[in-house]
Amino acid sequence: MNPHNFSIEFFPPKTEEGTEKLRVTRAKLAELNPKYFSVTFGAGGTTQQGTLDTVVEIRKEGFDAAPHLSCVGGTRESIRQILQTYKDHGIHRLVALRGDLPSGYGMGGEFRYANELVEFIRAETGDWFQIEIAAYPEMHPQAKSPQDDLNNFVRKVKAGANAAITQYFYNADAYFQFVENAQKAGVSIPIVAGIMPITNSSQLMRFSEMCGAEIPRWVRLKLASYGDDSASIKAFGLDVVTQMCERLLAGGAPGLHFYSLNQAAATTAIWQRLVS
Ligand code: FAD
Repeated sequence: MNPHNFSIEFFPPKTEEGTEKLRVTRAKLAELNPKYFSVTFGAGGTTQQGTLDTVVEIRKEGFDAAPHLSCVGGTRESIRQILQTYKDHGIHRLVALRGDLPSGYGMGGEFRYANELVEFIRAETGDWFQIEIAAYPEMHPQAKSPQDDLNNFVRKVKAGANAAITQYFYNADAYFQFVENAQKAGVSIPIVAGIMPITNSSQLMRFSEMCGAEIPRWVRLKLASYGDDSASIKAFGLDVVTQMCERLLAGGAPGLHFYSLNQAAATTAIWQRLVS
């Protein structure tokens, strides 16, 4: 098991208190020595400064950090400026996305899809950035079909991505199938599995509804049966997610990317079980 291919995602805090809490979380997660931390970017640039500030702080602490960059609502000029700022800070890695504007905002901007962003980054900055992109083993919710989504993924890879991180899932077979199909379509970049620890059932149901991740029926029923018993939910979540990670790694997943939600405990618990 190589924990050096594990990465951890944060969202940029909006308040001073959140910033302070994230510092504490980060200090705990830093002990795991992840390959890098990534920091999300609110679509439309809403967290642009917070994303940058968090990344800069992480890098000062001696860790590699990747800002996410979503292009929806952006112009070529606004994205060019952000790329220049990242370069000026010596940042060499980013996660390139389309993003989703809140409903009612339409799509706007000069980029329609992430493949256009990846192409633009390569045209503007050559090989400066290691570019990570998103992948959807259970299909992106807006895609016309799994095949169409795969074709779009392949297009995004060909635009110049170095690696991909998947949306989270609780069905390892969906991941293996996706990787196999991508490889058959000529994709050779690593496809790292995105892992969402289970700590809170209502939050999980809400997120999963939005992003199209399926919670297997037996997992949903078990979670529901625990009611408000948070300790049992966490213990069950730890077992389910760790076992899936073991299967993923044994089946050849090149790495794991943890959606930490700015919390240290669940990611640490899974990680420690995996490396012990
Ligand atoms: P795309 O690859 O552009 O795909 C979007 C949809 O369009 C898909 O259905 C695809 O099949 C289709 N499509 C793609 N290209 C074409 C084309 N050329 N023609 C027709 N259809 C096409 N969101 C944020 O706002 N900020 C973040 O920081 C963030 N981080 C994320 C990190 C990870 C690892 C993941 C998995 C998701 C993240 N998201 C983030 C969410 C992401 O922005 C949404 O899932 C968004 O809806 C799609 O982004 P994408 O880059 O995958 O888009």
